[in-house]
Amino acid sequence: MPAQVHAFLCLQDNIGALIHDPATGACASIDAPEEAPILAALAKTGWQLTDILVTHRHSDHVQGVEGLKARTGCRVVAPRKAREQVPSADVLVQEGDTVQVGALEAEVFETPGHCSDHVSYWFAADRILFCGDTLFTLGCGRVLDGSYPDLWHSLQRLAALPDEAKVYSGHDYVLSNGRFALAVEPGNEALKARMAEAEKARLDKTFLVPSTLAQEKGTNPFLRAGQALVAKSVNQDPDDPFEVFKALREWKNTF
Ligand SMILES: [Zn+2]
Repeated sequence: MPAQVHAFLCLQDNIGALIHDPATGACASIDAPEEAPILAALAKTGWQLTDILVTHRHSDHVQGVEGLKARTGCRVVAPRKAREQVPSADVLVQEGDTVQVGALEAEVFETPGHCSDHVSYWFAADRILFCGDTLFTLGCGRVLDGSYPDLWHSLQRLAALPDEAKVYSGHDYVLSNGRFALAVEPGNEALKARMAEAEKARLDKTFLVPSTLAQEKGTNPFLRAGQALVAKSVNQDPDDPFEVFKALREWKNTF
C-alpha cells in the first residue's frame, strides 16, 4: 500500500510532515519542530505516532522530540553525529542504513553542508524524499557548520534521484527563494510560473511542499549551476558548476 504523507506548517516557517503506513498503522514525524502542531496533525489524520525521524540537530527540528516521546512512547531515530543533541534517540543512523516505518523503508543518506550531521530519508518505493534543510523548494540550506563542497555534493546526490521524487523540505522559504531565483534567471518561464503559484499559495495560507525533483531541476538555481545563464549571473564558468554554486550561495546569503 502506498505511503500517505501529511505536511503542515509549524513554528514560524518550519514544515512538519507525517508519513503513514496504511498497512501497519505506523506513522513517523519527520523532525519535531513543535509539539502542538504535530499533535494537531495526528488528531486531524487519526494516525498514531510510532517514530520520529530526525534530519539534523538544530533546535527548530528537535525541540519537540522529548515531549512527543514522553507522550506517545514513540521510537526516536537520529543521525549518529547528532547524538548529543538528541539524547533520547533510540536508534542512531548513518550513511547506508535503512529505517523501517511499519512496512515502509527509508534509505539514510548523509547530506552534510547545512550542518555536518545532516541526513535525508529516501522512501524509494514511494519516491518520497525528506531532505530537511539541505534542499528547499527553489533554494537550499545555508552553509552553517558544514562546508560548500559538502553541500554541493549533497545536492548533487539528491538531484540524481528520479525526476518524479517528491521533495519534502524542512522550511517554507519559497517566496524569498523565488525572488532570489528570479534575480539569477529573470527569463526562466517555468520559474515565473512557479513564483506565481507560490504567491497564490501564500494568500491561501498553504505552501509549495512537496515539489518534485523535476520542478527543482527546472527552477532551483542551486540545481542549475551548470546552465550558462546561471553561471553568467555570478560571472563564473558553467564548466565549473561548483564555483557557480558557491558564488550563488554566497550571493543568496546577502540577498
Ligand atoms: Zn537547520
